[in-house]
Amino acid sequence: MEWFGANSFNFEFVSSVLQINNIQKSYGSVRALNGVSLQVPEGSVYGILGPNGSGKTTLLGILMSVLRAQHGSFDWFDGRYGDGYRKKIGCLLETPNFYQYLSGEENLRITVSISERGDEADIERVLKLVGLYERRKHRFATYSLGMKQRLAIGAALLGNPGVLVLDEPTNGLDPVGIAEIRDLIRSLRQAGHTIVIASHLLDEVEKVCTHVAILKKGNVLTDGPVTDVLMDEDVVELDATDREGLRSFLLTQSLTLETDKETGWIRLRFPKGQAKLEELNRTCMQQGIALTHLSLRRKKLETRFFELTND
Ligand code: ATP
Repeated sequence: MEWFGANSFNFEFVSSVLQINNIQKSYGSVRALNGVSLQVPEGSVYGILGPNGSGKTTLLGILMSVLRAQHGSFDWFDGRYGDGYRKKIGCLLETPNFYQYLSGEENLRITVSISERGDEADIERVLKLVGLYERRKHRFATYSLGMKQRLAIGAALLGNPGVLVLDEPTNGLDPVGIAEIRDLIRSLRQAGHTIVIASHLLDEVEKVCTHVAILKKGNVLTDGPVTDVLMDEDVVELDATDREGLRSFLLTQSLTLETDKETGWIRLRFPKGQAKLEELNRTCMQQGIALTHLSLRRKKLETRFFELTND
């Protein structure tokens, strides 16, 4: 029996779409970015993770030429498009001012004419992509917050840009709205888009991102694939009605068991990214032990976030 094995994630990133070199930016005496250098691989969902005030919005503003850095440089697409790179990127830095009394479809039509990105056929494609096609004729004012945000992402997707830049796309949404945006981001990645996303939510980054840079007070604490940066160890927690039966069985498998004092759950540790929950569940079932609890926690991830949000 094999309890753990190769990581099921297998990212193959060939080239980078964005190279950031030593960007520095101050607002008066406030140093917002303190020499940020990063590389965003093509096809990745790249999370810029940091608490409020860490410099995420400033960094995205610079990358979109809304703000100017005092030092450093950045290159989109290896400089292939020169200053024209902006047209290749769909961007959502703040919620656009859509017209309340117009429908979602009409609002996108206006966006097309102003931005000169996309066309009538593209509007239909985008509305379907963000799950608003059925509601396209309804007035924007009648949309839920989640729908408004999806329309905004739809607007950024006009013209089918290869890269999408999103600043805190789930801010203010309820759990359903958050889940919808996450599903959308995942499907955009599957469709081949590269997505750069700023977030202060560790959970969000862990769920949708392939890569992450952790930003604190304008400094990059660490960056790389999420599996490397956020995980050091897989901690599996499990329980069964027959807890003692489960314990005895796991001991026969040469596993080191710990017990959570509060819940009484059994805890197992595996090298990062290598716990196989399905296998574990199946093997216990074969022994006639039905698990009542089975979860995976990433110890380092929580520790990192704690470090990050505390001075
Ligand atoms: P949040 O999640 O709260 O938006 P953030 O990580 O996006 O935070 P920024 O908004 O980039 O961070 O802010 C970085 C730092 O720069 C903060 O200390 C902020 O107060 C400061 N800052 C941002 N914009 C300005 C401005 N226009 N004038 C002065 N200081 C600013």
